[in-house]
Amino acid sequence: MPVYNVLLLGDPELREKSTPVTDFKAPELRALLGDLKRTLTVLQARFGTGLALAAPLLGIHKRIIYFRGDPAPFFIINPEISGRSKEEEEDWETCFSFQMSFVVKIKRPKTIAMKYNDENGDKHIISCEGKMARVMLHEIDHLDGVLPVDHISNPPLIMRAELIKQRLSSSSRWKKQD
Ligand SMILES: [Zn+2]
Repeated sequence: MPVYNVLLLGDPELREKSTPVTDFKAPELRALLGDLKRTLTVLQARFGTGLALAAPLLGIHKRIIYFRGDPAPFFIINPEISGRSKEEEEDWETCFSFQMSFVVKIKRPKTIAMKYNDENGDKHIISCEGKMARVMLHEIDHLDGVLPVDHISNPPLIMRAELIKQRLSSSSRWKKQD
């Protein structure tokens, strides 16, 4: 099974809207889920970060996300946001389509409720908070052809990834500037 290359920011394919999965028994779906898992493992090893992968980042326009966070990895198929908290949080995000080379600061709801199908087609509803909610919203954006940069109206909210790493590791230097 192949490990796919990630489409890069600027590729018009990243702007396509993905279609829902309808046949959960299709052998092609099984193969694709395996490819997503394998590709995310390779990408995490290459970049040292990245919790989730949406199929359209690989040029596969299906509404499928693979999430490798706690408590266990799982597939999110045909997700729909059914609730968003009024309370929002701002935080930095990066993306495999930027090769993790810059970060953007985005305001998103702190908590969401989400409906989705698992890989067998069974329906689930979960609520996600904080970082997990942010990751889900980021990945669902990919299913709709939306990229993190679309949320930015203020250019200073885009930064090279090295700077945010320095900022996190040498907080004393930054405290003086903040
Ligand atoms: Zn992304």
